[in-house]
Formats: sequence, C-alpha cells, structure tokens
Amino acid sequence: MLSTLRRIIQEVTVAKDLDQALEVIVLRVKKAMDVDVCSVYMTDKVQGENVLMATDGLNDEAVGMVRLKKDQGLIGLVGEREEPVNLDDAPMHPRYQYFPESGEERYHAFLGVPIIHHRELQGVLVVQRHSKRHFSEDKVTFLVTIAAQLAGAIAHAEASGGIDGLHSKARGAAPLQGQPGAPGVAIGTAVVNFTATNLEVIPDRVAGDVKAEVSLFKKAVKDVRKDIQSMLKRMTEILPAEERALFDAYLLMLEGDGISGEVVRRIKQGNWAAGALRETIAEHMSAFDAMEDDYLRERAEDVRDLGRRILEKLRSQEPPKPKKFPIRTVLVGDEITASMLAEVPVKRLAGVVSRRGSQTSHVAILARAMGISAVMGVDELPVSHIDGRSIIVDGYTGRIFINPPPTVRDEFKHLLREEAELSKELRELREKPAITPDNVGIPLYINSGLLADITPSLKSGAEGLGLYRTEFPFMVRDRFPGEDEQCKIYRQVLKSFSPAPVTLRTLDIGGDKMLPYFPIEEDNPFLGWRGIRISLDHPEIFLVQLRAMLRASAGLSNMNLLFPMINSVAEVDDALALLRRAHYELIDSGVSISMPHVGVMIEIPSAVYQVRELARRVNFISVGTNDLTQYLLAVDRNNARVADLYDSLHPAVLRALQQIVDGAKDEKTPIGVCGEMAGDPAAAILLLGMGVDNLSMSAANLPRVKWVIRTFTQRKARMLLKEALTFEYAHLVRHFLNAALEDAGLGGLVRAGR
Ligand code: PEP
Ligand code: MG
Repeated sequence: MLSTLRRIIQEVTVAKDLDQALEVIVLRVKKAMDVDVCSVYMTDKVQGENVLMATDGLNDEAVGMVRLKKDQGLIGLVGEREEPVNLDDAPMHPRYQYFPESGEERYHAFLGVPIIHHRELQGVLVVQRHSKRHFSEDKVTFLVTIAAQLAGAIAHAEASGGIDGLHSKARGAAPLQGQPGAPGVAIGTAVVNFTATNLEVIPDRVAGDVKAEVSLFKKAVKDVRKDIQSMLKRMTEILPAEERALFDAYLLMLEGDGISGEVVRRIKQGNWAAGALRETIAEHMSAFDAMEDDYLRERAEDVRDLGRRILEKLRSQEPPKPKKFPIRTVLVGDEITASMLAEVPVKRLAGVVSRRGSQTSHVAILARAMGISAVMGVDELPVSHIDGRSIIVDGYTGRIFINPPPTVRDEFKHLLREEAELSKELRELREKPAITPDNVGIPLYINSGLLADITPSLKSGAEGLGLYRTEFPFMVRDRFPGEDEQCKIYRQVLKSFSPAPVTLRTLDIGGDKMLPYFPIEEDNPFLGWRGIRISLDHPEIFLVQLRAMLRASAGLSNMNLLFPMINSVAEVDDALALLRRAHYELIDSGVSISMPHVGVMIEIPSAVYQVRELARRVNFISVGTNDLTQYLLAVDRNNARVADLYDSLHPAVLRALQQIVDGAKDEKTPIGVCGEMAGDPAAAILLLGMGVDNLSMSAANLPRVKWVIRTFTQRKARMLLKEALTFEYAHLVRHFLNAALEDAGLGGLVRAGR
C-alpha cells in the first residue's frame, strides 16, 4: 500500500493541471482499492457548492453537472463532519441525493473522506461498490491517508492550471495565500528566478527564437551524450556489462523520437527549451512511476537525472548576464535568496514572492530594508506557470493575485494611492524626534546589512543603526573577507552614521544563513552551530572580525558591538576575553583605540532566565524577538506550514519580554528591541509600556512606529500593556491593540502593521 500511495502522489504532483491530477486520482485509487467507482468532488468556494470534477465509474457526462449545495447530500455530510462517512447502503441514508445523470443508483456501499488543506475543505474523495457492505478499516485508513497527502498536491495543481483556465472562473479572483513578508503593495510583472539544478521549478516561457532554442537544445543533448559515452568508456573495465546497461538506456532515451523528439515538438509549439524539457521529463517520470514493476518504476529517477544533465548544459550555454528585467519586476521563485535580489536593478524591483520562507526569513528582512513588498511561503505558488504574467503582491495581508481581473487591479491601484498619501504624512515626521507626549524619548534605530540601504535608512529619520548584520557582506562573497576588507566596510557604515550610534553585530551565520564557502550540514540547523557558537569555535575567524571592527572605529566614538545567540554567561565571558585580546593586540601594535560598548542579544529562552547575570557583564541588552519567538514557541521561523503559529504577540512571548525588561532595569542596563516586532506599530505600544529604552527596525517601518511613539503617552501604553497581558490568545491581543490604534486616529497603521 505504501508504494501505491507514493506512486499516486508522485503522479499527482507532476500533473500539469487540476483536471489531469484528478483523472490520475480516480483511475489509480479505483484500481488500488478494487472498487467500482472512484470520484472526486471539489468545493467551489465562490458558489458554495461541491461539484463532481472527475469520476471513474459514474457517467462521464455527469462531470461538472452534478453540483450539490454545501449542506446537501452525502457529500455535504462528509464536508460538515470533516471525517469519513462509511455506509453499506447509501441510497437508504436520509441525506442521500439522487442525480439521474450520474447512473449512481446501481451502487450501494459508499465511503467518502474529506480533502482538507490548511484546515479548509477542498473537496471530497468518494469510492463506491455495487454490493451492500461496509468498507473495512484498512480501506478507510488508506483513503484517509491518500486524501490527506493529496490535499497539498491538489491545491498546487489547482493553482497551476487555474490561472487562465476553467477553474479560475470557479475560484473567482481568488488570490493565493502566503505570509506577509514586507509591507506594501506592488503591481508588476512576474520574473521567475530559479537555480540551474532544480528542474521542477523551471518556468514556462515563450521561445523568442524557436530555431535558436531547438539548436541550443540539440547542442545540450549532444554534449550530454558525449559525457555519457565517456562515462561508459571509463566504466567498461570496472562494471559488468549488465550494470553498464544503465548508461546504454540513457543513450537510448536521448535518441530520435524519445525524449529529444518530444522536447523539440514542444519548443516548436512555443515553449523555450528549458520549459519544454521540464514538461517532457515530468511526463516521462510519471509514466515510469505508474508502472507496477519495481525495477521499471525506479527508472523515473534515471529520467530525472538525465533531465538535470541536459538542463545543466542548456543553462551553461545561456548568454551571459545582464538579464533584462521589466520595470516593476516582481521576483518570484521557489526560494528567493539574497543574491537573487541583488541581481535585479533596485529601481526595477517592485516586489518579491517566494514559495518557501516566512516573515522572518532573511530575504523578507532584506525586502523590508529595501522598502519593497514581499509575500513569503506561498505553498501553492505555481512557479512554472507564471513567468511574465501580471501579478499583484499584497505584502500587508500576504496575498498574491496572478493575472488579476480589472476590478482587483483597480482596487489595488486605489490602495497604492492611499499608501502614497500615508507615506507623505509620515515623511513629514522625519525631522521630528521620537518622543512621547509625556516626554519619554525612545530613540528609533534601523536594522541593516547592506551598504546600499544606508542612505535610504538615514532618510527615514533614524537616530542610529541599531543592528548591522555583518553576515550579509560575508554571504555575497566566495570566501571569508579579510581583515582589511572587513575594516573598510565597517568603517564606511560607522562613518555614514557618525556621530549617531551604530551597533555592529558579530557574525551570525548558521540557521538559514549559509555561506557558500563554509557549508554546514545539520539535521536541525536552528538548534545547531550558529552565531556566537561558530565564532567561539573559530577564534581565527572571530579575532579577525573583532580586530577589523576595532580598527574601523579609530577616531570615531559611535561603535557598539553585539554578540548574537548567547545561551550562557560562559559564552559572554569567552567572547569578552577574545575581544579584550583583539583590543590588546591592537594597542600593543601602537594603534590607539578605545574599547567599545558591548551588548548581548537575548534571543534564546535560557538567556531570559539569566538576564540579570548577563546584564551585569555588558553595557546594553538587545532583544532579538525573531529568534526569541521561534525558540519560545518552537516554531521554525522559515517554515510556511507552521507560520500561523508564529506570533510575537503570543502571551508567552509578551511575558518573557516583560521579564527581560524588568531584569535589565534591575541591573540598570539599557535595553532595546531589534527584532521585527519593534517595527510593528501595535507591538511598539506594548514595548513602550514595558519600558524599553530604544527600538530598532527595518527602515520601511520606522515612520509608522514614530507616529505611534509621538501619539501614545507612556502612561497610556502602560495601561494598555496591563490589559493586553490579561489576554489568553494572541489574536485578541492583536485586536485589542488595533482598536487602540484606531481610537488614536492611526487606523491607517492597522492594515500596515499586520
Ligand atoms: C532576531 O533574531 O530577532 C534578530 C534581530 O536577529 P536575526 O533576525 O538576524 O536572526
Ligand atoms: Mg536572531
């Protein structure tokens, strides 16, 4: 059963659209369960109906015609109950509804299970038999398992095929839902970015020059054939003839009418070579996958391997950059990385949409720093089918619209105008200080990691740089930057802000921030070797960075240093010892530099409980709420599947924050917050109430938070905090704070501050 299940899912996953996916499901499930009928009903959310979309067993003409209101019939019952309905004689059930066109009267036994994706009913999977007999527990669990696994694949197929087809009508102007990554709205053109090795995410693109694409493809095949022949030669002496047959099979697949012929045919129909290759390989893989014979089934992997080899050759022949990006480019991909962002000229980049990742992924943080809207974790993003299409990115609510109808487009244009007006009002606050009406100054700083965003940051009215993530300059190189190289970067940053304070954080790699030249293989990277742990284990890297920082500060007095991912006092002691050593070495060599102020990040739960001991050792504390939330709630900050559970307004996070602030105050150590929470206008009220001394955030969020600080007295914020701490649910805290923002006349921030 397990291998049957795996095969069906694989086939559905590579289906080109929903119709094909549903066809596969009904055919394969009927066969696997040895039943007389298998049908799929899909829920049409717009009409509130369950529609028969595919069947093997009922009359074909009934497809699309049998439509039941959501509360009608046995299908409605399955949907209502959200669990299997197993009947030995369905026509006798009071909820049974008869449709003459279906030819259903012949069947008695009925088993229906719901297809649920992200807690939402997608449809119902039904099997039926002539005989009057309950389905066994084995059959029920098989169908439940398959429906649970299929839900995601169906949602994906629906999104892939539903862009221009029939289903878009059923979906209406339904958007795809992800997570808000960076605030703002973008209306632009999707440009799919993909890596050369991932065949599955290659987009369809119109072939500019069919002849040229065909010859590119033929050249790639020729090169692959050559590689395989030389592999074969090398293997002749090592491998017995039957094992070498694999390579012969590869060569055969490349011959005339096989894969090559089909790709050429698809190119002639208009797709570019890489897209035509993806489609052909997917089709062949699913044919192999459907085979009963284990050996033949395994050949699907060979086909994929072959596809990857051809793709690699194809991509290596592509003309060198620069690529052309349309104005208002929306960068779309399976996983958008920082370097992909950097490829697009800043003026042309309007938005980012990534199938993976979430609000606190570093790409989202970068997008916020650059002031472009982003939506992350769009599970159902049909990456292969949207290149060049018109797209709307709503970075406030995490929705995207592909090929939006004019009504939706107009609505968003209106929103863009509103935004421009709000920004104008906010811009007027730029020169004004962040002081509450009861005279409490809360300096607002910005977070950054790029030299390029320093100027816009300064323009946002920041009073300093509260978090400079030094890992970004490390990430865009192909080796560790040397001491002089680092010194130059840090000095530029310090000088741009001087005399305003700048906090340089020491290297925080690991987790989701990998250096291409320093690979770390771990099962649980966020619980593994990251941040200060790596620095302390590699003093040769850490000391270089510390010396570069100290040298960069010569003659300036605005540098603070910050250690990330601190989990114990021992780590602080060790890091401080190395800092003193680096300082001593420089003094010893005749350079006169004073010791900077040093802080630690509180972002691991253990540090919450030792905040006083930590505070005693340093000059300031900075709370990293991105990681603190992740570790307190045990929710991976990049995992779209659990992103709903990630909420910095969770009562547990709020209580931890209050404890940190109180601990730091007891030790008279200044305390700031530098996680994304600091840039959320609603959360800023609570942080003000708790008594934090400063807030550091993405430049794009700073004007909104300044508005909050200039509107709410600390006294009022304390009262609101007291009440917020009585709520048991995060969403109630959010509603409560949104109401407070609206009461204060800052309703415009409610949507923006989601
Ligand atoms: C944090 O964890 O809140 C933080 C500011 O650091 P980073 O997002 O770089 O992990
Ligand atoms: Mg962190």
